[in-house]
Amino acid sequence: MEIKFERFHLQSDSRSPLGGSEIISVPTEVRIDPLTKRRSRIITWALPPQDKFDFSRMIQESKKCIFCPENVLQKTPQFLNEISSEGRISVGEAIGFPNLYPAGTYGSVVVLCSDHFLNLNQLTSEIYEEALSVSVEIIRKTMGFDPDARFWQMSQNYLLPGGSSILHPHLQVIGDPIPTNEMGWLLDNSTSYYKENGTLYWNDLIQIEKGLGKRYISSIGKVHWFVSFAPIGFNEVCGSVEGHGSVTTLGQGEIASLAKGIVSTLKYYYEKNLNSFNFSIYSIVGETSYQLLIRIISRTPFQSNYLNDCTSFEVLQSELTANIIPEELCREIRPYFP
Ligand SMILES: [Zn+2]
Repeated sequence: MEIKFERFHLQSDSRSPLGGSEIISVPTEVRIDPLTKRRSRIITWALPPQDKFDFSRMIQESKKCIFCPENVLQKTPQFLNEISSEGRISVGEAIGFPNLYPAGTYGSVVVLCSDHFLNLNQLTSEIYEEALSVSVEIIRKTMGFDPDARFWQMSQNYLLPGGSSILHPHLQVIGDPIPTNEMGWLLDNSTSYYKENGTLYWNDLIQIEKGLGKRYISSIGKVHWFVSFAPIGFNEVCGSVEGHGSVTTLGQGEIASLAKGIVSTLKYYYEKNLNSFNFSIYSIVGETSYQLLIRIISRTPFQSNYLNDCTSFEVLQSELTANIIPEELCREIRPYFP
């Protein structure tokens, strides 16, 4: 099984609306993901950039929320005694507890900090290091109680376009005995690759990307950061953690490296006037053919005339789109990484 970078060039031609004989040509690229074989459509035009949104009214209206320091220890649920006798799990300002509205077997929330709102450039690597440490501890403790819950995501939905109804920075930790679709695709294809080649897909991909130099961003410790050949979201940045398939084996060094990469990506998003994002860390215990992956994407920024970025392409055609050429994104984002 070879790692192939397949692409289709599509082009649309029309006569200029200004009249005359000028022909306007707009290219679109369809790329096939080398692992999952899923198609991504890269739209090469972009909507005009917006100014930074002023969140002050929203902050005023929503402050003293359930995640704010005066409420978080009073109004949030606590873990079962069998998982954590302390009820909640804290590291620094980060605090984790069960989700009152879970979407699976084990659903937790980790509040990142005491601040009710932070712009993307105010989220520091210390904040993420603490939040990820709490998340890892939740997973370790829960798996001590239920070892069958092998499939975990640590995900963040930031602001309303990202799917979060609460402004206060927080992330979700969700575990199940069965994988999500995405985890299933990643695992099945990584396993087939391993069986056929005897090597880890992710290590081979990283070596190839390093050699090509067009999409490899940087390595921070054991985390290799790169832009996907066939992204499944806007401004997608990925990180693969060498030597780990699950977050349960991570040391503090790898957690810090993940935190640094997240913050570097968010600083770039902030400079581009983006304010909403999602990330997922796909963590699978007990699979030697899989390597831990994080994927970060931006969402259409929150603004007065908000435009949803999921069109019929994404929700009905299962064809995910990206809005920047991956190689261009890699060039732009590299200076933000250490
Ligand atoms: Zn709050």
